Amino acid sequence: MIPHYDVVVVGGGPNGLGIACYLAKCGLTVCLCEDRLELGGGVENAEPLPGFRIDPHATYFYGAAGPPVEQLELAKFGFRLNYYRDLLGGITSDGQAINLSMYDPERSAKLLERYSKSDADLWRLYTSIPINDFVRLLRSIYWTPPPPVGKNIDPLDLPWVKILREIMPLFDPVWLDLSLFEILDLVSQNECLKVAMGMAAWYNGPHPDWAGTGVFGLTCNLLNGISSGSPAGGMHTLAHSLARACMHHGVRFLTNCKVEEILVEDGVAKGVVLSDDAPVQHRVIRADRAVISGIHVKHTFKKLVAPKHLPLDFRQRIEDVSLKGSSLFTLSLISKENPRWIGDAAEIFSPTFPTCIFLPCDSREILRNQTRTVDSYNTHPISKDNIIVPICQHDQCDPTRAPAGYHVFSPIYIQVPPPEDHVDGPRAVNDAKEEITEAIMEVIRSVAPNLTPDKIVAKFVNTPYDSSLRNLGFVGGGWYGSRQAEDEWYERRPLPELARYRTPVERLYLCNQTSYPGGLALFAVPYNLMHILIEDLDLKPGAWWYPSPDYIKEEA
Ligand SMILES: Cc1cc2nc3c(=O)[nH]c(=O)nc-3n(C[C@H](O)[C@H](O)[C@H](O)COP(=O)(O)OP(=O)(O)OC[C@H]3O[C@@H](n4cnc5c(N)ncnc54)[C@H](O)[C@@H]3O)c2cc1C
Repeated sequence: MIPHYDVVVVGGGPNGLGIACYLAKCGLTVCLCEDRLELGGGVENAEPLPGFRIDPHATYFYGAAGPPVEQLELAKFGFRLNYYRDLLGGITSDGQAINLSMYDPERSAKLLERYSKSDADLWRLYTSIPINDFVRLLRSIYWTPPPPVGKNIDPLDLPWVKILREIMPLFDPVWLDLSLFEILDLVSQNECLKVAMGMAAWYNGPHPDWAGTGVFGLTCNLLNGISSGSPAGGMHTLAHSLARACMHHGVRFLTNCKVEEILVEDGVAKGVVLSDDAPVQHRVIRADRAVISGIHVKHTFKKLVAPKHLPLDFRQRIEDVSLKGSSLFTLSLISKENPRWIGDAAEIFSPTFPTCIFLPCDSREILRNQTRTVDSYNTHPISKDNIIVPICQHDQCDPTRAPAGYHVFSPIYIQVPPPEDHVDGPRAVNDAKEEITEAIMEVIRSVAPNLTPDKIVAKFVNTPYDSSLRNLGFVGGGWYGSRQAEDEWYERRPLPELARYRTPVERLYLCNQTSYPGGLALFAVPYNLMHILIEDLDLKPGAWWYPSPDYIKEEA
């Protein structure tokens, strides 16, 4: 007999797992099909040497401010988050350093004072805003679905703009048209601080030079500051807790089961077909109420839904969705020593380092050169003029990452083009692994000269090409799948008609990082999608569910 479920979910990344868990908790029967042997998608850890855990993709959990952690009871299912006292720092090549902490703001302000009294005062003002107001702001941005398609809202009436005006005395509506660097230039002096905040925005959302995205760039820094930490044991433990929660509510997992086709009959999604070699009795799985695609929007409509079910212009616009901006070359290092930083950093990064340090933060021009190299020249950066990296280190707070006496710096990222855009072909970055690694090491040694080759035990590289082989959902190997620039953001993400997670195929919904609000394992996509499914499938969640207060319902 052909198996039937209420809902079939394609892909077991954090977004697919999240929606499977929500729906099963509402009492629906749910089957989740995952191509890989492991659940978790981009939320994974690897142990390339026994005893050493590295992060080939995601490394921080930024979703602590959102409702899903509570609604899905992740703590009950084993999720533990390490909050770091010092999360974010920056260092220049002449040894100036900043160490930003929302948990110890007075210390951070004191440290900033040696470079800029006005920035220290600004930091005090910023961190004096009650955390609950920041949570309200973050929820109104990330954990709220975009408005209904075609509904024009005056920017000043957007929920987060109203909250910003209420809680942040400095906020000026003019900021809505500016880039992050333009906003920072209005309020701040210290370039190292601005470059570090720009990088934090770029690794969580928009580029700091993109017009009209500056406020969002600021809130990305807030995600860093108050909503993040690292799951104890590594990012993959997040997937484990979610998988346990799913199983508790009865989700059926089919791993090693690649979905080859989404079945569509008379314009309505009716189930999936698994690949020939799937280790199951029935390759067809029927979905009586909905099919949810947890994989990249391009993969969904180019590979899984037959073209005859989709309008031609729609297929072209899917083709045109840009992948630029989020493909990362990831380096992980095992070292016998901690870095010994030059200049002020030796004292400022003490007794523990910020777990994410951007370097070198001398000038935004280095970041601009990197962007230009990657996005305009479609090649990879290999000189110190265009390399700026975050270097993350979790073993300071998490002993599971490395045996005593060793340290793991993982990941260290630089931006590279998506494989399909590279001027020298899709494998070009793979062919240049050693050259790029050496260039990054040179930049690191310029501020931590003790990290000489004899102190490095091993290096591991993961490229976007590697990622897209390992995880079919990572088209372009990118961490947010499609651009987070103004033209592919909010009610235009990934296309205007898909912004509310519905698709041209009835009962087929999207739940992947290519939907709003984009990359990161925030569980914001499944939470937002729940608002839509409650309406469309007439769900009746229990008292545990609370919607976003800013959600705008569909008009009849
Ligand atoms: C280098 C890098 C660094 C990152 N750093 C962070 C970070 O620090 N913090 C953070 O929160 N996020 C980070 N991210 C982003 C994060 O990993 C993604 O946003 C997240 O994994 C997206 O989740 P998803 O569920 O939408 O998709 P995915 O994680 O891509 O999951 C999709 C799943 O679908 C499966 N699949 C694909 N095709 C099929 C098919 N045909 N049939 C069945 N299954 C299929 C895949 O195997 C995969 O398991 C990073 C990403 C990268 C690449």
